[in-house]
Amino acid sequence: MKGIPSTDMRIVESPADMQALSRTARTAGKTIALVPTMGYLHDGHASLMREGRKRADLLVMSIFVNPTQFGAGEDFDAYPRDLERDMRIAAEAGVDLIFAPKASQMYTAGYQTYVNVEDISLPLCGASRPGHFRGVTTVVAKLFNIVMPHVALFGKKDFQQLAVIRRMAADLNMDLEIVGMPIVREVDGLAMSSRNSYLSPEERRAALCLSRGIVEARKLFAFGERESGRLKGAVAAVIAAEPLAVSEYLELRDGGTLEEVAQAGSGTLLALAVRIGKTRLIDNCILGEPD
Ligand code: AMP
Repeated sequence: MKGIPSTDMRIVESPADMQALSRTARTAGKTIALVPTMGYLHDGHASLMREGRKRADLLVMSIFVNPTQFGAGEDFDAYPRDLERDMRIAAEAGVDLIFAPKASQMYTAGYQTYVNVEDISLPLCGASRPGHFRGVTTVVAKLFNIVMPHVALFGKKDFQQLAVIRRMAADLNMDLEIVGMPIVREVDGLAMSSRNSYLSPEERRAALCLSRGIVEARKLFAFGERESGRLKGAVAAVIAAEPLAVSEYLELRDGGTLEEVAQAGSGTLLALAVRIGKTRLIDNCILGEPD
């Protein structure tokens, strides 16, 4: 295909074909790494692929805009898609195989099975996007069964998603390693996201209030501030100073259990979701630790 570097990278659409390829690889003694994505790739995704490349013989990346994790009125239809561009980025990062099924192949007629992780799916994005994590855990469980990876890589940009997937894998005795990877940011601090493409130039500038808020909280924490209310207040002030930003949640929680904390300490998660115009952005950090 035009513009695609010469590569042995394959694209597989059918779950049955993918499963057969994985079974063959496993039988030949090969290890498999999986990077699940919704496509429209950026350097955050590429960092996962590069790490996956190091950790296994066969590197599979899935591209699937999963309808079951989008609520009514969310951006499922508008979500950016560009398979040709994704193929170039994937080939450069050393992906062997792209698994890109259609929704009708993942959710066949009569489909009625869902995976639900309970408590840690409830706060933060679980509260603002009801049903979202049920869709995520369901599709990730399906991807694990189809690709049969030894290792799967996820970004800490979606911190709660990573925690929920770790919980699911442990609770359901899934036989693979889950690896969490650091947040990759633009040079000015904005966490990379496919949804950044929705932002107008003015909104793009406004979106910096998320990472600025995080930097502010990190600074206060480094100076010894532990009071949750004061740390949150400082971040809220940064966001309130940006006229295009509307805060959806801004919380300090235990990075392991995701329970709310009154006093911050090592391992405390600062998580925020902010609307910039119509675009919903998330960001987070663990106070006292690098991204
Ligand atoms: P998505 O395509 O947005 O569903 O993301 C696919 C994977 O890439 C998820 O594990 C995300 O957490 C991860 N990811 C997305 N953005 C970033 C980023 N800026 N840094 C690191 N990982 C990311």
